Amino acid sequence: MSGIRPTGFLHLGNYFGALRNYVKMQEEYPCFFMVADLHSLTTHPDTKELKLNVQRVLSENIACGLDPDKVALYCQSHVRETSELYLYLNMMAYKGELEKTTTFKDKVRQHPDNVNAGLLTYPVLQAADIILHRASLVPVGKDQEQHLEMARNFANRFNHRYGDVFPEPQAFNYGSELVKVPSLDGTGKMSKSENQYATIYLSDTDEMIRKKVMKAKTDAGPTEPGTPMPDYIENIFMLMKLVSEADVISKFQEDYDQCRIRYGDLKKQLAEDMVRFITPVREKADAIRNDEKYLKDVMELGAEKAGKSARATMELVRQAIGLNYF
Ligand code: AMP
Repeated sequence: MSGIRPTGFLHLGNYFGALRNYVKMQEEYPCFFMVADLHSLTTHPDTKELKLNVQRVLSENIACGLDPDKVALYCQSHVRETSELYLYLNMMAYKGELEKTTTFKDKVRQHPDNVNAGLLTYPVLQAADIILHRASLVPVGKDQEQHLEMARNFANRFNHRYGDVFPEPQAFNYGSELVKVPSLDGTGKMSKSENQYATIYLSDTDEMIRKKVMKAKTDAGPTEPGTPMPDYIENIFMLMKLVSEADVISKFQEDYDQCRIRYGDLKKQLAEDMVRFITPVREKADAIRNDEKYLKDVMELGAEKAGKSARATMELVRQAIGLNYF
């Protein structure tokens, strides 16, 4: 089970941190993937663009390879049981632990005028999303590690208080560790909301991809063998590992070690490899986005599958709590 907020265009961080795993998992597990539209309300109170954003995220998910017939692909707000479970979990979530959450502290810094209770209880809603399907594997990027730990705590607390209903959810990734895709400016991660020029979107045109990659920070290059790579160069290599062939990467690595690397060539190669990777996804997503009828069918089918699973869990939850009076 996992989700992505419809707060902007999807980028390479979303793809390599989350979506790539979704696509692989759908072949091996029963899966629930959702567009987290309720979560987006915590920071985007203006909902005029919501419908378009939801359609866009759905299209991009499908263009990346998610198959709505194999998984439950749905909108969070279409499964009302989420809100009910969120309410119960809120009574087991403490102000102190919520205020300590890194993402909450970041959001308070970014939106000092909109520190609402939904923002504070964001990880509780996320826990509700996950355990609503009694999910145990949650494919997410590294930035979600703390939220997953909280989801585990809430699930365990519920089990302790009311009896075993939920398995312990774990952050999941097919590689050995969770992924953090760095931004092109060498400061932090690619993100929907920060520095648009340092983030490569799945919807970027070829021209835009080239422009962004060529702007990535470099320097004059190493002058002595054995010089450690600065973070911003390491980031470029890390991005290359996502989209370029192994022999291409080793060639540039060797050039770096021998102090003959030309960063212009490195970036040109990276740009072309990114264009090759993104173009088919962008074209497919554009075609899907224009098919409203198809997207409506996808959402209906997803809501039906997710609703069925949610209703079964909520029966157990109400029974465990003691809310079954007749
Ligand atoms: P969000 O865009 O915050 O709704 O995140 C959706 C999914 O993408 C989550 O699983 C995140 O962990 C993942 N994600 C977002 N940005 C990155 C990044 N730069 N690197 C790796 N994963 C990311």
